[in-house]
Amino acid sequence: IAKKEKIGLKEKLATLILEREIIIDEGKLEKVLPELEMILLESDVAFEVVDEISKRLKERLVGRRKGIGESLSSLVLKELKEILREILSKNYFDFDEFVEKKLEEKKPLHIIFVGVNGTGKTTTIAKLAYRLLKSGKSVVLAAGDTFRAGAIEQLEEHGKKLGVRVIKHKPGADPAAVIYDAIKHAESKGIDVVLSDTAGRMHTKKNLIDQLEKIKRVTNPDLTIFVDESLAGNDAVERARMFNEAIGIDGSILTKIDADPKGGCAISISYVTEKPILFVGTGQNYEDLVKFDPDWLIKRIFE
Ligand code: GDP
Repeated sequence: IAKKEKIGLKEKLATLILEREIIIDEGKLEKVLPELEMILLESDVAFEVVDEISKRLKERLVGRRKGIGESLSSLVLKELKEILREILSKNYFDFDEFVEKKLEEKKPLHIIFVGVNGTGKTTTIAKLAYRLLKSGKSVVLAAGDTFRAGAIEQLEEHGKKLGVRVIKHKPGADPAAVIYDAIKHAESKGIDVVLSDTAGRMHTKKNLIDQLEKIKRVTNPDLTIFVDESLAGNDAVERARMFNEAIGIDGSILTKIDADPKGGCAISISYVTEKPILFVGTGQNYEDLVKFDPDWLIKRIFE
């Protein structure tokens, strides 16, 4: 009997050890992944990006040992949140600190805004001007979208409301020349920051890319900010990629987050550009611009 009990104990121990050392394989992951992928897709993260995130999850988890009592789904969720945090924090910098530091080195500081029309780019420029004015900086705006009818007037209206000068040429003029003039104006008047608008659309994509490349070459911006709206869904990937390749983006601003309960677009944009989301737009007023916090978004997606 003693021998029999001993064998029984041995078997129990063996299964215990096996349970303690459950190795995660692809089959086990496939059981929990679809549900998490669905959450990301429903939060408006682009298909392509969800695929890439899934791949990353598999790379990190397949072959890993799962402790006894540890649930696979909570382990995968923890790792997924970590991956999202990494994507959203890549190349992070604080905008206000950047401005302060840069202004110690040079003046004016030159910031360019790129992105398609209608996403809130002009409003965002005005919001950032407001923020800079509030922190005691002087600002000039450059009407660098000379293509879209009404773009110059729209910027001028904001300029009037904010009490800041708008440097403009005629519609159809060379935007690089407009922005160059704005920088010269700021230099002569001792103005701290030049905020430059650019076209969001032209006759062809190539025209737009050529124009942005020229602006970059001629005016040498200190910071290039991509603006898109949180409702852009899968389109955000293509746009972010296009502008990033044309001019090189340092960070993005995601507008209209107040009109979208999801916000997953931030993940798509950060993934494609490998640059942080600096601010989110939370409304139509000048104060409606808040610093982006990756953990806030991750919570919003999963809770
Ligand atoms: P642009 O063509 O990209 O320059 O876009 P505009 O700046 O003209 O903005 C388009 C519309 O979006 C305007 O009606 C803005 O008031 C609105 N808008 C911009 N940012 C936000 C935001 O963060 N939230 C909301 N709800 N509306 C915004």
